[in-house]
Amino acid sequence: MEKKSGWLKIDEKEKREIFEFAEEYKEFLKKVKTEREAVEHFVSWLEKNGFRNIENAKKKDGKYYFVKNSKALGIITINDKNFENGFRIIASHIDSPRLDLKPNPIIEDQDSQTVLMKTHYYGGIKKYQWMSRPLSIHGIVVTKSGKKVEINIGEDPNDPVFAIPDLLPHLSRKLQGEKKLLEAFEGEDMEFIISHIPDGKNDKNPLKTAFLNLIKEKYGIEEDDLYSADIEVVPAHQPRDVGLDRSMVGAYGQDDRICAYTSFKAILDSKNNKNNSIVILYDKEEIGSDGNVGAQSNLVEIVIAKILDLYGIEYSYGKFLDLMHKSIVISADVNAVVDPIFKQVHDLNNAAKAGFGIVLTKYTGSGGKYGSSEAQAELIAQIRNILDKNKVIYQFGLLGKVDEGGGGTVAKYLAKYGMSVLDMGPGLISMHSPFELVSKLDLWSTYKAYRSFLEG
Ligand code: MN
Ligand code: MN
Repeated sequence: MEKKSGWLKIDEKEKREIFEFAEEYKEFLKKVKTEREAVEHFVSWLEKNGFRNIENAKKKDGKYYFVKNSKALGIITINDKNFENGFRIIASHIDSPRLDLKPNPIIEDQDSQTVLMKTHYYGGIKKYQWMSRPLSIHGIVVTKSGKKVEINIGEDPNDPVFAIPDLLPHLSRKLQGEKKLLEAFEGEDMEFIISHIPDGKNDKNPLKTAFLNLIKEKYGIEEDDLYSADIEVVPAHQPRDVGLDRSMVGAYGQDDRICAYTSFKAILDSKNNKNNSIVILYDKEEIGSDGNVGAQSNLVEIVIAKILDLYGIEYSYGKFLDLMHKSIVISADVNAVVDPIFKQVHDLNNAAKAGFGIVLTKYTGSGGKYGSSEAQAELIAQIRNILDKNKVIYQFGLLGKVDEGGGGTVAKYLAKYGMSVLDMGPGLISMHSPFELVSKLDLWSTYKAYRSFLEG
């Protein structure tokens, strides 16, 4: 394998395709900042492309989707009606690290003359990265009568935004400067300012009263309604080109919506596909894949059961396991490319580089490979073959030095069923930050790799 930048391996035509692809990708990231929005967006796209909800599909035309609780999505194409072979599956996740509103979030602080909202961080964040930056609010509030109120504030340039205050350097020498990074910023301090003008008619709680009047008037909701809400706080900024050569995309939520987007496009665009394929977009990966919309749930089982039912094949657990053991899965999640500032965390011999294409990761985990399902040599050879045949630019990469830290993906939860699983996705710079970077070449090669995998 020739070790040089992928940018030197492409012609002008492909370079144009790469930049066009990145424009659509940025549009997607601009509209989609939560798992709920991802599902909604993808489903409307599927409907336009002839895919039908498997719950009420009658035709055996092979294009279906399955939605779980508005937060996880399976996209299915059936080309082998006898179900003799396994599936080609790509699994990614559509949740990203963020701040969630606490169920009882409102704080009236008369000392600072502000109303603050309490949050609970979700997933692995460096808390200081979320302070002093414009934030937006996305989600739903469901009232007792079942009315669903959609909230989306801070994305339109005319919208207000929200902010978690950070301490001025003049006064933070002791409180922050003398502490370790992880101790200087506490979870309970992640509160953002939501309002400030008091109500003249209420002496006891003038600030809170004014705020509650505001949400009653604007959204028709009461304080108690926030108990039944899914509200997420995310960075308000838009995706941008990064670099004078516009070679990278900088945006929030690329882990792992870059894989969700490219695998979604891959199944939609795939042609002459002889395999039965599933693209699964899970929620809850960032907090351990638990819950009924995470990769540890039985989502795969219900999807297969529903497909077999539609095609008149009797479901049995034996049949299901047989299909799973014959299936190949790409665990589609991001890796890290070499960080230009903090190189010392990488084993440079085994680290992925920006612009060198999609990253194949033999194993994830931490310490002595703990928590990894590890792809077998035979499987990696098979995938290499598919990628080479389709001229996909790819590289091999591990997350960091041995014992430096580590991380996992959904791979092991799918391997549990007997599927052969390989981790494969693009590498990011500043992963899990509010502004993650990806090389446009790596974005493109990820799409090409997933599409080749489904077709090949
Ligand atoms: Mn991820
Ligand atoms: Mn992650």
